Amino acid sequence: MIQSERVLPLNHRPIPDDRPYVLYWMQSAQRASCNHALEYAIRQANLLRKPLLAFFGITESFPQANERHYRFMLEGLRETRMELEKRGIHLLIRRVSPEAGALELAAFAALVVVDRGYLRIERAWRNTLADGADCPVIQVETNVVVPVETASSKEEYTAATFRPRIHRIQDLFAQPLQEGKALVSSFGHNPSCDFFDLSDVDAALALLNIDRSVRSASARGGTAEAKRLLRVFLMDKLAGYADLKNDPGMELTSGLSPYLHFGQISPLEIMLELKDAPAAYREVFLEELVVRRELSMNFVFHNPRYDAYESLPAWARATLEKHRSDLRPYRYTRDELENAQTHDPYWNAAQNEMVLTGRMHGYMRMYWGKKILEWGRTPQEAFSTALSLNNRYCLDGRDPNAFAGVAWCFGKHDRPWGERDIFGNVRYMNAKGLERKFNMRRYLQRVALMNSGAPQS
Ligand SMILES: Cc1cc2nc3c(=O)[nH]c(=O)nc-3n(C[C@H](O)[C@H](O)[C@H](O)COP(=O)(O)OP(=O)(O)OC[C@H]3O[C@@H](n4cnc5c(N)ncnc54)[C@H](O)[C@@H]3O)c2cc1C
Repeated sequence: MIQSERVLPLNHRPIPDDRPYVLYWMQSAQRASCNHALEYAIRQANLLRKPLLAFFGITESFPQANERHYRFMLEGLRETRMELEKRGIHLLIRRVSPEAGALELAAFAALVVVDRGYLRIERAWRNTLADGADCPVIQVETNVVVPVETASSKEEYTAATFRPRIHRIQDLFAQPLQEGKALVSSFGHNPSCDFFDLSDVDAALALLNIDRSVRSASARGGTAEAKRLLRVFLMDKLAGYADLKNDPGMELTSGLSPYLHFGQISPLEIMLELKDAPAAYREVFLEELVVRRELSMNFVFHNPRYDAYESLPAWARATLEKHRSDLRPYRYTRDELENAQTHDPYWNAAQNEMVLTGRMHGYMRMYWGKKILEWGRTPQEAFSTALSLNNRYCLDGRDPNAFAGVAWCFGKHDRPWGERDIFGNVRYMNAKGLERKFNMRRYLQRVALMNSGAPQS
């Protein structure tokens, strides 16, 4: 079912006569399954009795993306292209700025359908297409359970204000999506333009003119791998998730965030797979997958300065300013942080985990960000250091969750706590707290094992 709230015409042009295809511009939802935008495009193409041509444009200059991210994305796209082929849909992948590529192909399209993205650049790309195309451009929102503007028409203060809104309506949107087949195949309807050959990901990656300073991670991209991780999570981890998800030594979280970030798996599909799980397990996981994740979308959608220090609430900026000149017992440069050269073994382990694997345990992410604030020259500098390290190394970086997660360490979506040095009223975390709650030796051993290159269980 495709709810009308997911569908938004981005312009109001009539359908031109005699156009050979309907175009589906895939950008943020890089998958062939549980994709409302794709299904909507298939239905429109079938109604118009035209083939559906799918298109993906690879920009080589997406802000802060490097080889690690590109490999993961290309692995996923290769699989998606093959899955679409089985349904009679040709996915044309080109090395071109996405909006420019979409605009070129829109000149021959009866209609263009595009998925929704929330970041500034993704929104600007869609606006460029909607303004420039002489056919209808329709956006279909599929990377959230509840469409962002339906969930809330304003920036929410905290999860406490957002949660009741989401809970009220999430079941209306958590409906299975029926998958269709294109009635007219788009094979043989290729426009005469260049294409990017993805049959060999290594060879394709070597051709790209991208930042190669961060090496690929071992995690494999793609929907099949995401679904495998989901099965492992449901069978082996969900039952322990509520009690142990925060324990960095335990690895009881799903590991799905990079796949969600690239749209290789749908949050709706994950939610529906949980339907038979005991309610208590389900609720704890959905608090993260739906409430927290979609609060991040709410943040980047409604706050134009989502990537800047100024996005923090006034109380947080005021208290951090008041404590700006407090003595910092430890101060580290960005290089020292990047090379995990601090006095704190837990922080160093978290940094190493991220650099080596492209992931960092969720609880350590909070600790990691808080310490960057504590050890930074100024809160502003700490904010940009944390965001840039997160986005450079994490496979799921540059996501709405990245901006909300880093901002949370500086007071976003939180409340004032007791006042203390450096942090003022911003929530504080310390190593003693980690040791009190968890077996931190186990975490250190786990990261040391990664460092030695030994296979992980
Ligand atoms: C400093 C900092 C930086 C962060 N950077 C990112 C980032 O770049 N990309 C990213 O996706 N998440 C980020 N997060 C949020 C969170 O840490 C990760 O989403 C989570 O650790 C991903 O691991 P998982 O998939 O195993 O999560 P699970 O616990 O299995 O949760 C399932 C899904 O729920 C969502 N989720 C879980 N925790 C949160 C949370 N606290 N906020 C919002 N959504 C959540 C994610 O989509 C996750 O994949 C950051 C948090 C902090 C404090």
